[in-house]
Amino acid sequence: MAVQRGGRAIPAVLGADLEVPVRGGRLVPYANLDYAASAPCLEPVSAAVSAALPAYSSVHRGAGYASQLTTARYEQARHTVRAFAGARPDDAVIFTRNTTDSTNLLARSLPEGTTVVVFDTEHHASLLPWDRTVRLAAPAFPGEAVRAADAALASVDGPALLVVTAASNVTGELWPIAALAHIAHRHGARILVDAAQLVPHRRLNLTALDLDYVAFSGHKLYAPFGAGVLIGRRDWLSAGEPYLKGGGAVRAVGADEAEWHEDAEPRHEAGTPNVLGALAIAAACDALTSTGWTSLVREEERLISRLRAGLAGIGGVRELSLWGPEHPRVGIVSFVVDGYTAREVAEALSGDYGIGVRDGKFCAHPFVRHLLGESDGGCEDGTASAVRASIGIGSTEEHVDRLLGALRDLVAGSARP
Ligand code: PLP
Repeated sequence: MAVQRGGRAIPAVLGADLEVPVRGGRLVPYANLDYAASAPCLEPVSAAVSAALPAYSSVHRGAGYASQLTTARYEQARHTVRAFAGARPDDAVIFTRNTTDSTNLLARSLPEGTTVVVFDTEHHASLLPWDRTVRLAAPAFPGEAVRAADAALASVDGPALLVVTAASNVTGELWPIAALAHIAHRHGARILVDAAQLVPHRRLNLTALDLDYVAFSGHKLYAPFGAGVLIGRRDWLSAGEPYLKGGGAVRAVGADEAEWHEDAEPRHEAGTPNVLGALAIAAACDALTSTGWTSLVREEERLISRLRAGLAGIGGVRELSLWGPEHPRVGIVSFVVDGYTAREVAEALSGDYGIGVRDGKFCAHPFVRHLLGESDGGCEDGTASAVRASIGIGSTEEHVDRLLGALRDLVAGSARP
């Protein structure tokens, strides 16, 4: 059932009525505050996948009607995703497994000798796939990010790629991607934006922002069917080594040679693709677009402001932030609780209150260490970690208030552990 909130109807998510056991054996409604890890499935996404299943068949190969229909749906999904991302008409739209797969695909397609400039604040998916990197320290303010990228790119000889997240998976803070794209282009470099945490929360317009590449995952976009996307300029992708070698990526195969497709999509989508995953992403894109970003953002800001104000009012709870409490962010907040490890907090929230959050370093070890003021211990994991609460469609005031109440109990010593 869709929920009406003063604008167009916001679609419902599956599992809104899920009940989970808490200590003592009681069942309570689940408060899912872990959207940044994986968001629940939107009802229209589930419906679109169910509707496609009866005709489900192979794509790009069969002459049969079901195969043609499924191929048409798969290619339509590509168009939908292109429009959702505001991509240029000639950009490649490649379906992958997830954001990590997308960044790795681009890493393998970079021209020989490309230097990748990347901030220490990145998720590992955007930090690690590159061969030759210049790593930049966490910037103290957004303008410092632009200045540091400018200086680093100025010193690079040859092709360069700037890699940056649009919205942090740790703090939710929005990065100045338009300014960074401008700087990258001034140096003749390109920019890849990790939009995994942006697209579930804000409209993306690759063309208006003048981005070269973007990557995101279906499972964070209410489409948990195992697919992701890499969108961007064709030339590097068409020249790069095929990401997967096999059927579909080749035009012709001889005794000891293969003629690879130059078109980026078939070149990198060898084998049978995740058709249902692609259809699911497209259905999520359609659902978000037709709901309209204004009502989605308004509702998210109402809830995240309530959550952050509540956290600020609890002594012993500290929100993590790179650029201060006023900096714009999406519906993600990480915090620490004095006297408790993040794991203890997360276990108490789950075991006593039926609340799901994430704890740890969120696959962003250098960044979380920086936010927690831990010295950089190389690869050492250290002990410090944080709790992350994240919201989206289907989140409610009750979820937020239950979390705040639980944390108050915890700091007052009246909750486990
Ligand atoms: N980038 C960001 C900002 C993320 O938050 C995540 C997942 O947490 C990823 C990349 C990796 O996404 P996936 O696990 O779907 O590859």
